[in-house]
Amino acid sequence: YGVLIVDDSQVARLELSLFLKRHNFRVFEAKSGREALSTLAREHIDLVLTDYHMPDMDGYELTRRVTAERCNGEFRVIGISASTDRRISARFLKAGASDFIYRPFVAEELQCRINNNIATLHQIRRLKTMAERDVLTGLSNRRHFFELAERYSQNMDLHDGRDCVAMLDVDHFKKVNDTYGHEAGDKVLQAIARVLSQTCTNTPHLVGRLGGEEFALYLRGCDEKDAIAFCERLREFVAMNVIESSDHMIQVTASFGVAPVYPSESFSNHLNAADQLLYIAKKSGRNRVFGESTLKQ
Ligand code: GH3
Ligand code: MG
Ligand code: MG
Repeated sequence: YGVLIVDDSQVARLELSLFLKRHNFRVFEAKSGREALSTLAREHIDLVLTDYHMPDMDGYELTRRVTAERCNGEFRVIGISASTDRRISARFLKAGASDFIYRPFVAEELQCRINNNIATLHQIRRLKTMAERDVLTGLSNRRHFFELAERYSQNMDLHDGRDCVAMLDVDHFKKVNDTYGHEAGDKVLQAIARVLSQTCTNTPHLVGRLGGEEFALYLRGCDEKDAIAFCERLREFVAMNVIESSDHMIQVTASFGVAPVYPSESFSNHLNAADQLLYIAKKSGRNRVFGESTLKQ
C-alpha cells in the first residue's frame, strides 16, 4: 500500500516515514498541500497522513479538496496534529478525513489506526468490485456499464469524438443450453466475454454484460462506419471461436445492433435504438451487424 505523508516539518515526516517503511508501506512525502495534490495525481496512493498546520493550505483544506474529488474507495485520509486543541479532530472528520491521530504518537495506536483504515479500504474495494462485476464473465455488469457509458456520453464533446453503442445477442443460445447443458452454455458466455474484452484491450472502448446472453459495447471515438467495422470483426471472432466442453466442440454466432450516441440524449435511448437494430439483425437471418446505414442499403 502507498502512503503519502503531508507535513511541512522534515523531522515529523522522517519520524512517520521510518515507522511506515518498517511496516513495508511504499512511502511518499509532500512538504505542502500543493505538493500533496500533485503527488496524488501522479502516484497510486491508498492512505494520506496529513498535518494540520501547513503554510500554503491547511490540513482541513487539503482533506476537503481530495475527498471531494475522489470517490470513497480510492484512498483514506488520517489527520494529524500536535496541538492540544481537541476540536481539531472533529474538524478533520467533518472535512472528510476517516480518522485522526494526536502527536506525540503512541506507536501501537498509530499502527492500529493505520491498519484499520487499510482494512476498511480493502473491504470497500472488494465490495465495489463485487457490485460492479458480472460474476460469470468478470465483465462490467449492467449497472456499472450504464454508469460508465452515461458518463462517457455526457463527456463526449471533451474528446470531440463521435461515439457509438452496440448490443450483441448470441444466436439460438437456448439451443446451446438444451443440447449441451447449462454449464456448457456458461462456458460459451465466458468465451464470448473473453473475445470481447481481448478485442477491446488497448482501446478506449467499454464492454459489459447486460444480462443473459446479451452484451453491450460503448465504442469511443467511432462513427457509425467505424463501429460497424469493429463489430464485424467481433462477429467474425465469435463465429470462429471454438469452445470445448466435455468432448463437445461448440461454435456459436451473434447478432449486433449499432447506434450512434448523441450527448444531448439519455444513454438508454441509444441503447434502445441499438436493441431495435439488433432485433432487425435477428429477423434478417442472424450472425450479422446492423446499423441505421445498413437499413438504407
Ligand atoms: P435468439 O437467436 O433469437 O437470440 O435466440 P436465443 O435462443 O438466443 O434467445 P432466447 O432469449 O430464447 O434464449 C436465451 C437463453 O439464454 C435462455 C436462457 O435460459 C439462457 N440464459 C440466460 N442467462 C444464462 C446464463 O447465465 N447461463 C446460461 N447457460 N444460459 C443463460
Ligand atoms: Mg436474448
Ligand atoms: Mg439470443
